[in-house]
Amino acid sequence: MKKHLINYDISKNFDTHILKETMVLPVYQNELFITCLVCENSNIEEFKKYVKITIKTLFTKQESILFEIDNLALKRELFTLAKQLSLSSSQRNTRFFIYQIVNLAILKNASDIHIETMSEVLSVKFRIDGVLIEFFRFDMAIYSLVSSVLKLFANLDITQRRLPQNGRFVIEEFANYDFRISFMPTINGESIVIRVLEKDFDRFYLDKIGFSDSSLALIKDKITLTQGLILVTGPTGSGKTTTLYSIIKELKDTNKKIITVEDPVEYKIDNITQISLNREIGLIYSEILKNILRQDPDILLIGEIRDAESLQSAITAAMTGHLVFATLHTNDAVSTIFRLLDLQGEGFLIASVLKCIIAQRLVRKRCECGDNIGCEECNHTGYKSRTIISEVLDIDDNLSSLITSHATLLEMKQQALLSGFIGMYEDGMQKVRQGITTQEEILKALKS
Ligand SMILES: [Zn+2]
Repeated sequence: MKKHLINYDISKNFDTHILKETMVLPVYQNELFITCLVCENSNIEEFKKYVKITIKTLFTKQESILFEIDNLALKRELFTLAKQLSLSSSQRNTRFFIYQIVNLAILKNASDIHIETMSEVLSVKFRIDGVLIEFFRFDMAIYSLVSSVLKLFANLDITQRRLPQNGRFVIEEFANYDFRISFMPTINGESIVIRVLEKDFDRFYLDKIGFSDSSLALIKDKITLTQGLILVTGPTGSGKTTTLYSIIKELKDTNKKIITVEDPVEYKIDNITQISLNREIGLIYSEILKNILRQDPDILLIGEIRDAESLQSAITAAMTGHLVFATLHTNDAVSTIFRLLDLQGEGFLIASVLKCIIAQRLVRKRCECGDNIGCEECNHTGYKSRTIISEVLDIDDNLSSLITSHATLLEMKQQALLSGFIGMYEDGMQKVRQGITTQEEILKALKS
């Protein structure tokens, strides 16, 4: 809908409750007419009482109008600030402008802030619960200023606009957050993406991720083992890191040496040895794995098993008295076994070290408003925050011997079901029945 740059100054002349009641949002005005966003439920006749000139209408969805009316005061403030900045560039005001955007992103629980140069406008979007939502459109005139100040934040070269740049920064006012920033040249200027990382490690709770009671009991049992391999699988963005950090947190208070290999380390954790890959100096994955056992760990978190070599390292560590956690890009728990066999893992070795496989996806939770046009809390999407749907496969003796004897996928699945395995779809449908999420979310998640 937003082909137009909304002039928030115009709505200043109307009480917000009138805008909400009539569901009409004026967005542009000249001497002859006033242009308004309207929807099928707008009361234009009522709105006419408040204007003296001709009303032109632009049709859109009801939730889009309500979304625009949310945080109207802040939008107006930013709009005014942007206008000032386009007239006289001021670093101080640009900082304030950026802080306001970051502040709203944090309030909205956004994981990323996208600042994109379109042909005529600067678009600001937030990724919330995995979904990108456009919050603002500003005049392109402020782009150079915003880009330069963000580069200063991250100590990057402000004259460079034709090559990608990456960095990180902190903002004193948002001390609990780290920001990672990426600049990418595009045909219209640059695309800037800021990842918002909450530093607070305390928010990782295995109990609160969304595992069913039986899955949770199984996981808690398995992570107390002193040796073996535990896998967390799923596509990118399925919450694997959260699950692993929550497991680490569960184990952290024990008298054990925990070492993690990360690419890169996103959350710094006390009392844990964290290693960040650094390809520039040759600190690559295989080099770390080759040497890691000399560090005498009890528990190892080695990131993604991506090839035969990393699988071999995981197996070796798991066979020699270490509890190893790793991730894999596979669709479901049982097929993960076949992925390992494909990576040239010997069946009997895999059978002896593998203890459990957790497969998971993230789904959005229904907002409490339960309204089909949503509310301000859920940005009129009907969904707020996320949970997981999962399946946890216990590699018990029966399954272990099937792996050794190279049984088929179907045979393994049947055996798992006999032992009480609950698949991800069924786990999800239980959450649908409990009113936590919707079937659409489950189906969407399982397609990925
Ligand atoms: Zn809502």
